[in-house]
Amino acid sequence: MTSRNEQLFAAAARVIPGGVNSPVRAFRSVGGTPVFFARGSGAHVWDVDGKAYIDYVGSWGPLILGHAHPSVIAAVQQAVSEGLSFGAPTAGEVEIAELLCRRVPGLEQVRLVSSGTEATMSAIRLARGHTGRSRIIKFEGCYHGHADALLVKAGSGALTLGNPSSAGVPAETAAATLVLEYNNLEMLDAAFARDGDQIACVIVEPVVGNMNLVQPAPGFLEAIRSLCTRHGAVLIFDEVMTGFRVGPAGAQGLFGITADLVTLGKIVGGGMPLGAFGGRRDIMASVAPLGPVYQAGTLSGNPIAVAAGLATLKLLEAPDFYMRLASATHALTTGLAVAAAAHGVVFSAQSIGGMFGVYFRAQPPRSYAEVMECDVPAFNRFFHAMLDAGIYLAPSAFEAGFVSSAHKSADIEKTLAAADQYFAQSA
Ligand SMILES: *Cc1c(COP(=O)(O)O)cnc(C)c1O
Repeated sequence: MTSRNEQLFAAAARVIPGGVNSPVRAFRSVGGTPVFFARGSGAHVWDVDGKAYIDYVGSWGPLILGHAHPSVIAAVQQAVSEGLSFGAPTAGEVEIAELLCRRVPGLEQVRLVSSGTEATMSAIRLARGHTGRSRIIKFEGCYHGHADALLVKAGSGALTLGNPSSAGVPAETAAATLVLEYNNLEMLDAAFARDGDQIACVIVEPVVGNMNLVQPAPGFLEAIRSLCTRHGAVLIFDEVMTGFRVGPAGAQGLFGITADLVTLGKIVGGGMPLGAFGGRRDIMASVAPLGPVYQAGTLSGNPIAVAAGLATLKLLEAPDFYMRLASATHALTTGLAVAAAAHGVVFSAQSIGGMFGVYFRAQPPRSYAEVMECDVPAFNRFFHAMLDAGIYLAPSAFEAGFVSSAHKSADIEKTLAAADQYFAQSA
């Protein structure tokens, strides 16, 4: 008898490309059939066949309070009863904008959008419109959503024009994006020495969570900051993942660096579609209707999304919230590393705030090239063993993981016991 899950995936594949609405969900990287979820509560999710899992994906980052937090659900239910959308200003938008401007360093004004992709795409257009320049710099392995200008990989040589990393992105669009190696200061200096007066902006994940987890080397973010200032380029910190995840003031707060523009998403919507971009008032003054840079959205600032976001962000103010989150996450990664070492498995792990990386590699990677050295088949076997044991990890060796405030020590211990058992028999 085929499971409900198998039936659903077969039906999905007939009417949805690959059976999924976002590619990584398809399990192509790890193999096997994606798990269809029916419901979630706290740190746990249940699939359509009734099996329970401890969830370390958290909808890819938004669910910092776990699934279906009662306060978030109540706020959404209240908002729903008052109407789903108006396409006109609402009080909640002012409240969340004020909250974001208070909590996010350098945020003097903010515009709400409906996804992280929209936030980065709009921030890039704004940086170009504000500076009157067209070149942009990004780093290999950083993901900033799926806008054309950002689906670009490095050209054939250092500092050559970027190439599209997706079919359908015009070569001429990709050519305006220079792709540099993350944590490579010499390359960054050379790019600014050559093209400094043409660079509209540098966009960077201040902690990378889209090539597994890669931390910035000491001095890297500082160097980007000072080069942007010296050359009049706009520095965009893409904090769609790290915002409210690595600490209460995001990566900016953690590293003491203030960008010119910041993009937000994921946690700010508390599980609903909400993103934001904002920063220096003089730059935001270029956004329509104040200025010449066009940006708009029928559902932007949607009241239900805003209600979920506000309820979530308020709960993050609890005393010790981030200390507890970081210590639970750290307990997970150190426990995994200890278990692997005990059984002689080549493995490393690290965490920052509520984000973590696990690597089948002796040391945490510092660049895309080093991430690519991880043993992918080893990760895939580990992934499936953990899935069987009721532990849901990101279905790819190249994604970061997330812990929520709903993960209790019993969840972490159960996860470590499953990993220890797997490492013991795989060794
Ligand atoms: C998830 C993510 C995005 C894209 O956000 P979507 O809501 O998926 O469009 C952009 N930047 C970073 C750093 C992300 O992690």
